[in-house]
Amino acid sequence: MNGTPACLLDLRLQAVTLNQEMIHMLHLKETDLSFSQWIRCFRHTGQHRLQQSLHQLLTEGLRESSVQLTDKNFDRRFHCRMVHLTNGQITFTLAKMEEEQHFYAPGPADTDMPSRNDKPSLSITNYEGFPLSSFSSSQIKHRMTHIVDKFPHGLAVINHNWEVVYANPKMEELTKRPFFKNYYKRLWDIFSIDEHYPFFQHFLRSMETHETMEFEGFLEDTQLDVKVTVHPTELGLTVFLQDITQYNKHLQALKASEERFALLADNITDVFWISEPDFDEVHYISPAFQSLFDIPRRKAFTDPKSLLQHVHEADRAHFVEGLSKMKEEEHVVDYRVIVGGKEEKWIRTKGFPVDYNGKPLILGIHQDVTEYKGMIELKEKSQQLSTITQMSAGIAHEIKNPLTAIKGFLQIGAANPELRDNYQEIILDEVNRIEAIVQDFMMLSKPKSSIQLEEVDPEQLVSYVLRLLEPEANEKQILLLFDCDPVQETFKTEPKRMNQILINLVKNAVDAVDLGGEVRIEIQMSSSHLTLYVRDNGPGLSTQELAKIGEPFFTTKEKGTGLGVMVTKKIVSDLNGTINYESEKGKGTTVVVKLPRA
Ligand code: ADP
Ligand code: MG
Repeated sequence: MNGTPACLLDLRLQAVTLNQEMIHMLHLKETDLSFSQWIRCFRHTGQHRLQQSLHQLLTEGLRESSVQLTDKNFDRRFHCRMVHLTNGQITFTLAKMEEEQHFYAPGPADTDMPSRNDKPSLSITNYEGFPLSSFSSSQIKHRMTHIVDKFPHGLAVINHNWEVVYANPKMEELTKRPFFKNYYKRLWDIFSIDEHYPFFQHFLRSMETHETMEFEGFLEDTQLDVKVTVHPTELGLTVFLQDITQYNKHLQALKASEERFALLADNITDVFWISEPDFDEVHYISPAFQSLFDIPRRKAFTDPKSLLQHVHEADRAHFVEGLSKMKEEEHVVDYRVIVGGKEEKWIRTKGFPVDYNGKPLILGIHQDVTEYKGMIELKEKSQQLSTITQMSAGIAHEIKNPLTAIKGFLQIGAANPELRDNYQEIILDEVNRIEAIVQDFMMLSKPKSSIQLEEVDPEQLVSYVLRLLEPEANEKQILLLFDCDPVQETFKTEPKRMNQILINLVKNAVDAVDLGGEVRIEIQMSSSHLTLYVRDNGPGLSTQELAKIGEPFFTTKEKGTGLGVMVTKKIVSDLNGTINYESEKGKGTTVVVKLPRA
């Protein structure tokens, strides 16, 4: 330290380490003292000032501070300078008052003090030989040093001789050039012109034209993308360096992902879209929209609701309802659109709500499912055909018996006209049986896709069926009862199929009970389902019978077709419902049908 009395303060450990000069100056013996022992070397009034300065240094993030002290034993006045090191320790140097100026005028050659922490203050004071101390208080200078050192971007000052007279720590970090080694070296001795040509080009231009330049460059050594701003000043140039590597990386990643999305969106036939929850504003719709709907894509943005006019009239209500559900949860809606005024397409729109930075939006796709729908219909038809083929043999057999009987009686009647009247009734019975089989069989061959939903009043529907079956029930003196909540909402279903279910079930129940029995029909509605119960107090079914029920031609009745339950099961499944038989031998039967509310 060239004979400067100095010591190192560690306030955390409350320890002070002194150099020989300091020991000598303060007439002490040991190198290591406790903080309190050491501070007592100074006069009482000074002690307080010293404590205050140290406190300031530590709490205000200052790099340097100075204070005047008088030593206790010899009454000498000292100028003391404290420098806060990055490791938290503090260097403390003493100078007698007449030596004061030394602290503010170390030259660039004064490299025996290259401590990383001292340097910026030295260089700032020094560039172009400007003694900052002559016009600024030490406090201002400390603050400036602090600001420049903590500045988040690289900062360097180059003079007119192209010498680097100052660089802040961030600049050293970005360029990997330790400044104290390059102090007052020419710029091209620090950075090769070849490798940094664009930089030199801009610097030169700025120096010559006094223009501020802004450009982006790449630093080979540190592999960093930087944004450079060069300001011409009276001294030369001030250079700012901003690391934009991360920013560029993110930008590139964003670009790449946008390109990937565009690739997907432009080439896929499905249409992506992002919309406001009320569908009154569309934020994005992919180009395939145009070819799918034959509507200009621009129209989807300017008049999003115009799509509705292209939706098949019969599907409009269903379509609007489907879209409104997407606000709450993922939902799929299938509907037909008329494309180009004539062609009909089946479209499936799937959408779900998303939260985009606290803003609700709906994200979805439109898909052309015309082919798929065609395939489903074909599959349904072929399934029906195969069941029908399988059953034809059975049907033929079932019809053949009554036909043989009819033929026989007609032949007898032809030979004996006087007997004809006797056989009339038998023939009519057999014809009725054939009719019943054919009717059930026809019901089976109806495709599911022919379902046409309507709003119906369940109470009215049941009452109608009960009126049909009343004569039969009265004949057997059976009680037909119907329980239904007085306030019923309507239910969306196909009345024809629903009627058939009721007729088949109630008829079986009426068939099952004995004279004076009871059949009770009950309807319960929940928000999601309609549940129909048909209870009877008939003989019930054995486990074996329960297993067989619903098989074609399973009947225990003399005139039964054995098709009723099978038909009922098919209709219930066409309506996406479930059917269950609860029965025990001797305890009656309850049939439970559960249908979803569409
Ligand atoms: P069918 O009524 O022509 O006999 P179904 O398919 O309607 O044909 O019924 C098949 C069989 O299931 C009936 O013959 C009967 O044995 C039995 N079954 C159906 N419902 C009931 C019921 N509620 N109680 C007792 N048995 C029943
Ligand atoms: Mg039946």
